[in-house]
Formats: sequence, C-alpha cells, structure tokens
Amino acid sequence: MWLQKWSLDFKPEEDLPIAPVCVLLPGLPFHMHTWHYVKQVVSNVGTPLEMDMATRGITRPSMAKVRVEIDLLKPLLETVYVGSKKEDSPLEGFVQKLEYEGIPKYCKFCKKLGHLMINCRVLERKKANETKEEVVVTNKSITETEVTIEERKEENQSVKGKDSMQGQNSNKQATNKEKHHTLEERITEKVAITTKEDNTIVNNEEEKQRRRRREITRRCL
Ligand SMILES: [Zn+2]
Repeated sequence: MWLQKWSLDFKPEEDLPIAPVCVLLPGLPFHMHTWHYVKQVVSNVGTPLEMDMATRGITRPSMAKVRVEIDLLKPLLETVYVGSKKEDSPLEGFVQKLEYEGIPKYCKFCKKLGHLMINCRVLERKKANETKEEVVVTNKSITETEVTIEERKEENQSVKGKDSMQGQNSNKQATNKEKHHTLEERITEKVAITTKEDNTIVNNEEEKQRRRRREITRRCL
C-alpha cells in the first residue's frame, strides 16, 4: 500500500512524483550527525523527514542517513556545499557527497510509479500505433499516387480516343466521299444506261417506221 500526499491537482489515474528516499551522507563530520545539521545539509535535496536509527543513536560515524521526500521529476543532486560562502565567515565550508537508496521507479510518460519510461508499455503502444498510422498514411499516399497515375492514363487514353475518333471521323468522311463518288458514278452509269435504252427505243421506233414504210411500199407494189 502506497500513501501519498493529497494535492489540489490530484488525479487518481496518476501517481505523484513525490516519494521518500534514503539519502546517505558519507564522510559527514561526526559532530554533525544531529537533526539540526542533517536537515540543513539535505534541505536542497527535498523535504527532510527523519534520520535513521543508527544516525539518531550516533552509532555509525562513517556516514549519516536520512529519509528525504524528493521530487522524482527533478535531477538528483550528487553533491551539496555545506558551510557559508561568505568570505568573512570564520567557518570553512566543504562539499558533501550525496548517495541515494531506494529510489522508486517513476515513469515520466504515464506518470505512474513502478516502472521507468524506458520500460513503459503505454509509450510502446503509442509508438506502435504511430508507426501503424505512418504506414497507413504512406500506403494512402501510394494509393493516391496510383490513382493519379490511373487518372492520367485514362486521360491519355481519352485523348487518344478523341484522336482516334477524329481519325474515325476523317475515315468516315473519306468513306462518305468514296460513297459519294460511287453514287455519282452509279448515277452517271444509270444515266448512261438510260440514254442507251432511250437510244435503243428511238432506234426501235425508227426501225418500226422503216418496216412500216417497207410494208407499205411492198403493198403498193
Ligand atoms: Zn509508463
């Protein structure tokens, strides 16, 4: 069970990035293993909560250990300067090394405790979906390009078709001309035939008249 501080921007689906962490102060002067000094040393790291039992009992001179509530989103300090930086200060300051124990894993992406962002499944799923979307978009653009190509092909074909239509039309015209020619020729032929026939008729009439005359001449003889 994990108890957290309540805050105004509390969201039940998210974990607060605030957690108690053990801060080790190796080499801290032994006379400073008191709450008064320790809380000042770690004040830049976070909110000091309590010293561990060994520090409280002054039984471990090598280092002090203190529980500090830290913000997991902030980078962890590796050192802290202890002392006054004023030039006229009688006490000389020093750099205190900081070590940490029990830092909980916190995912900066889904804002949950228990795993780091590098192992975040939510982020993995999001990336996978984005990749899918990219693939879909790429496919879509490919299809669009294909469609455009097809459209262009169709346009070309229709232009060709028009050309061929025009060609056909000219062919038709040519055919019509031919037909026209043929018709004229036929008419001429027919006229010629008719003239021939007329001639024949005329010739026949003349022949008849001649025969009649011959008959009449014979009768008279
Ligand atoms: Zn996560």
